[in-house]
Amino acid sequence: MKKGLVILGVGLALLTATALVMTQTSWGQNILMKRLIAARLLETPMAWEDPDVLRVFVCGSASPLGISERAQSCIVVAAGSTFFIVDTGAGSTANLLRARLPMQNLAGVLFTHFHSDHISALGDTNLASWVAGRTAPLNVYGPEGVARVVDGFNEAYALDRTYRTMHHGSELLPPDVGPMRPQLIALGKVTEIGEFNITPFSVDHDPVQPAVGYRFEYRDRSVVVSGDTNALQSTATASRNADLLLHDALSRTLVRAMRDAVTSAGNTRMAQILDDILDYHAHTDSLTEVSREAGVAMLALYHLVPVPPNRIAESIFRRGLPSEVRLVDDGTVFNLPANTDAIEVMQIF
Ligand SMILES: [Zn+2]
Ligand SMILES: [Zn+2]
Repeated sequence: MKKGLVILGVGLALLTATALVMTQTSWGQNILMKRLIAARLLETPMAWEDPDVLRVFVCGSASPLGISERAQSCIVVAAGSTFFIVDTGAGSTANLLRARLPMQNLAGVLFTHFHSDHISALGDTNLASWVAGRTAPLNVYGPEGVARVVDGFNEAYALDRTYRTMHHGSELLPPDVGPMRPQLIALGKVTEIGEFNITPFSVDHDPVQPAVGYRFEYRDRSVVVSGDTNALQSTATASRNADLLLHDALSRTLVRAMRDAVTSAGNTRMAQILDDILDYHAHTDSLTEVSREAGVAMLALYHLVPVPPNRIAESIFRRGLPSEVRLVDDGTVFNLPANTDAIEVMQIF
């Protein structure tokens, strides 16, 4: 018994001494730093380049309304050595990097419309994939207006690109790969890129016109991203038998509560803005019908208006929704293996 206590005491003393050496000495700190850097820079949460799994990664789940740590609208669709980003909202580039996506494989950005919460990180996303080694200019797809937006970003980042090529050399950062190329989409017209078939469809985000959603097909799996829209027949039609529908969503109860609060506080400007957005996005209570009518296997809500700040607000947001409908967060990943009906949902950060 006494001997056991002595061994335990010596063991604890050794552990404490080791912890002190590792955290308090330069030698120990250097070892820890190397391990941490290797873990942070090199470890990936998943095999993004697996050709047998269609993956959907939420790189931004927030809307501009409310205060949230989350990034604004951004959805990655990936399989094999190809991936796409639908919208690049504020904060989304950091999420792409946190997910360790092979940024050099970025095959295109697709814009649903040109509200700031869908486009503002385009410059940094382009830069991140150029620096990672993308070998051709980035294609940016979108409806009428895409050329104006892309030209503006190209111009705003023109000096930045020259600095980086001067600093690192044109072999590492070829100047002709830096500027993006706008690509005008046509509604209903299928674009084939690698093994993907992508179909844009019209949505209702009035007075924002044009506004579109996208359907992606990869082998026998499919995913639809609605963009900002009311719940619509056109979305249901475009989502027919899709495996996964990611739809924007607004909680009327929460938005009205916010409007009432700012009205009581005398902030009439904010009250009007909150009133204006009520018919601008799909109400939660209108989405289940669209999803059911379309026959989609899974409905997941993103671009949450507003992002629920706590569990009670989340419970209010979910009112009227069936329990199987998901509210996504930044870092949510859906894995859809080819030749199966399976949808695996996970959270990578
Ligand atoms: Zn919008
Ligand atoms: Zn939006």
